[in-house]
Amino acid sequence: MRRVSVFGATGSIGRQTLDLVGRGEYRVVALTAGSDAAALADLALEHRAEVAVIADEAALPELRTRLEGSGVEAAAGQAALVEAAARPADWIMSAIVGAAGIACSLAAVRQGTTLALANKETLVAAGPLLMAEAKRHGATVLPVDSEHSAVFQALVGEDTAAVERVVITASGGAFRDRPLEELAHVTVAEASSHPNWDMGQRITIDSASMFNKALELIETKEFFGIAPARIEAVVHPESLVHALVGFRDGALMAHVGPPDMRHAIGYALHWPERGHVPVERLDLAKIGQLTFREPEPARYPALALARAVMETGGMAGAAFNAAKERALDGFIAGEIGFMAMAGVVDRTLDAMSGKDGLGIAAESLDRVMETDARAREIAGQMIETGRG
Ligand code: NAD
Ligand code: MG
Repeated sequence: MRRVSVFGATGSIGRQTLDLVGRGEYRVVALTAGSDAAALADLALEHRAEVAVIADEAALPELRTRLEGSGVEAAAGQAALVEAAARPADWIMSAIVGAAGIACSLAAVRQGTTLALANKETLVAAGPLLMAEAKRHGATVLPVDSEHSAVFQALVGEDTAAVERVVITASGGAFRDRPLEELAHVTVAEASSHPNWDMGQRITIDSASMFNKALELIETKEFFGIAPARIEAVVHPESLVHALVGFRDGALMAHVGPPDMRHAIGYALHWPERGHVPVERLDLAKIGQLTFREPEPARYPALALARAVMETGGMAGAAFNAAKERALDGFIAGEIGFMAMAGVVDRTLDAMSGKDGLGIAAESLDRVMETDARAREIAGQMIETGRG
């Protein structure tokens, strides 16, 4: 029986992963969560996990009580999370949200297993490191982002040298049709509701600001090794075409499917085969038409920031992601407005790109996390001093 672990099991991706895992014959090894001991315990009992790990150490007593007598081990803390990622498994889903997921992604590839990577922050902050470690340990990394799974599928059997361009689609998020001048005053609740996808709150807000697409441009570069100039983003409000790959003969290969992440999760779970995945089957005649448009630069400043980050390379991704996470915390906490987030990130990158700036290689997890911490601190100061 295949042994599988799910990091971030209580989240949107984690639950959809367990939905698919629960339909097959798998042995569940580790399940993890941030701080919700009750939800984690329920999932661990339902899926008869070997171990349940909670990041928040204060939640360990509750987790222990809920798992008592069940045979499921309980553990807590960052070290326990990384240990769980090193516990032998044939397939590991990395679906913790944010930079908190990077250490587990790395530990997973170091056991030479198959890593299903939803945590895009790993690629943005530590892409070259992850890919090098995967190669060194004979691990396979499969993308679990709808766009990147789509690109991956379009590339099966193809020579990447023949790729002319990669086009990833963006829904445009919650405010795609809002007058630009209203964006400074939108609320957290409005930003947390996505027109097409049902996702965690943070990525939903990142979709509205297009920081999510910005991360995905960088993710495309790091995962596929595609030159930044060949990577495009286009607004596609229906979210049915997830990405397209253009080849030198002019052909564009598209992946089309409903906005349901079980597509990408299922592809990674069954890879290299195709298993049955219970997503809606599209009725094209009923859909009628698909539309595409250029993303407006003034509405989505995050996209230009991503271009600059790809140019700089090295530590720029780690700084960008961390500054974005801090700015997002600031927006959620009511410290700054929606449109101020990009300014905070921009000025944080500026402040960090001195002589010993960001171009240096991200060669170890410690170095990445140092840059992450410094970017958070600088972004935090900007927010607190009102320069956000
Ligand atoms: P979510 O907020 O729904 O779930 C996040 C999970 O991480 C939860 O299990 C939570 O308990 C855990 N967690 C949070 N903080 C933690 C910490 N500090 N330490 C350990 N665990 C922690 O998020 P999500 O929407 O499922 O997204 C997960 C990842 O997948 C993100 O990187 C996101 O960008 C990516 N992703 C999500 C979707 C989607 O449809 N939701 C699509 C593509 C990519
Ligand atoms: Mg995506």
